[in-house]
This record gives sequence, structure tokens and C-alpha cells, in this order.
Amino acid sequence: MTIEEYKERLAEAKRIVFFGGAGVSTESGIPDFRSVDGLYHQKYDVPPELILSADYFYKRPDLFYKFYFDKMICLSAKPNAAHLKLAQWEREGKLLAVVTQNIDGLHQAAGSKNVFELHGTTLSNHCIHCGKQYSLEEILLQAPAVPTCTCGGTIKPDVVLYGEALPNDAIYGAIDAIEKADMLIVGGTSLTVYPAASFIGNYRGKEENLIVINKTHIDNFPNQLNGKLGELL
Ligand code: ZN
Repeated sequence: MTIEEYKERLAEAKRIVFFGGAGVSTESGIPDFRSVDGLYHQKYDVPPELILSADYFYKRPDLFYKFYFDKMICLSAKPNAAHLKLAQWEREGKLLAVVTQNIDGLHQAAGSKNVFELHGTTLSNHCIHCGKQYSLEEILLQAPAVPTCTCGGTIKPDVVLYGEALPNDAIYGAIDAIEKADMLIVGGTSLTVYPAASFIGNYRGKEENLIVINKTHIDNFPNQLNGKLGELL
């Protein structure tokens, strides 16, 4: 697929859904902890996949939060050109929804309204004892200590940890949007990581409008552009 072919199909599309992975946020300076130069290869003795598991959170909330505050929170990150373009398409009425595996809230910061966050968000948190909600700013006031509720309970980020199920409302919202889409753009994800592949199976539109935009080439996807999302969207 050439850029020109993509632009033509894009101009005709009326119900775009964007399915985004970590690559969308890396252009805002947020590291992808699955990539080769990502967090997996940094200074921590315990692999991030273990630290970011539900088991580890409940056993060692102190070490979980040390890592979480250090690596998962990036307050300086701003929406990039890709986030802004998707928000613009939604305002223009040609984009149904953004489905994202990212937890940074940058789509909403860019102005997108209909966003399904499959892995939750760092922007909200709740007490595991009484359920009281806390903002990111509120729990940061207690950092680097484990954030604690006024009731004494431990506060947990509304992020889907390893070993936890994806939120039902995000799953069903995403599937519904993808089923209605006349163009599905998959961006910044290798498609090998669960659950990306299974979601894309719900697309019912034209084959030529199932489009992949990724930094590196992905095998077996004919309609593909390789490069920066912020420049190609
Ligand atoms: Zn509480």
C-alpha cells in the first residue's frame, strides 16, 4: 500500500476505529516496556512483568510503588501529533473510537472522548478496602510511600496488572466499535501481544481498509505503512 492509496481510502472512510499500542505513546517519550530498548532492559533486578503483576502488588506494595512511581508515571508527557490527529477526526465525525492498550490518558488529554482503555489508566485509583477514588495527583502526594486511604486501606491504580482480567466495559465497547468500523487502523503495536490480534478479528469492513502503521514491518499484513505514526496518520 502506498501513502497515496492510504490517503484515498482515508478520505472515503466515515467510521474509523484506531487500535493503538505502546508505539503511540513512545512518540510522547513514554517508554515501551516490552520493546528491546524498553524497561525490560533497565536497572531492575525483578522483571517489570513480575513487579506489575497483581500477586506482587498485594505481596510487596512498597516495591511495586517504587517501580510504579519511578517508571510508569510520566507527568511531563504531552499528546503527540498522532493523539491530536485522532482527536481531530473524532471532532470531524469520521472516527468512532480509539481503543488503546496504553494507560497514560494522552488520548483524552488530546481531546478524544470515546476511548476504550483495555489496560485501564494511571489517572484514577481506588482504595482496595473501601473503594474510595483518588486521582493521580492525590496519590503522588504520598510518593514514594505506598499510598494509603483515609480508612487505612492500600490504594491501587486502576491499571490492569498482569494476572488481572481486562475491564468488561472496555472490551465490549471496543468490540462494538470495531464491528461498526469501515476502516480499522492498527498503530504502534506488534500485534503479537494479547489481546490485539483477537480484537482485530471483529472487524467486518473491507480488507483493504484494515491498515497497519508501525515503526517496523509486520509480516502478513498487506496494507501497511512503516514509520512514525505522528507523521503517517
Ligand atoms: Zn479506603
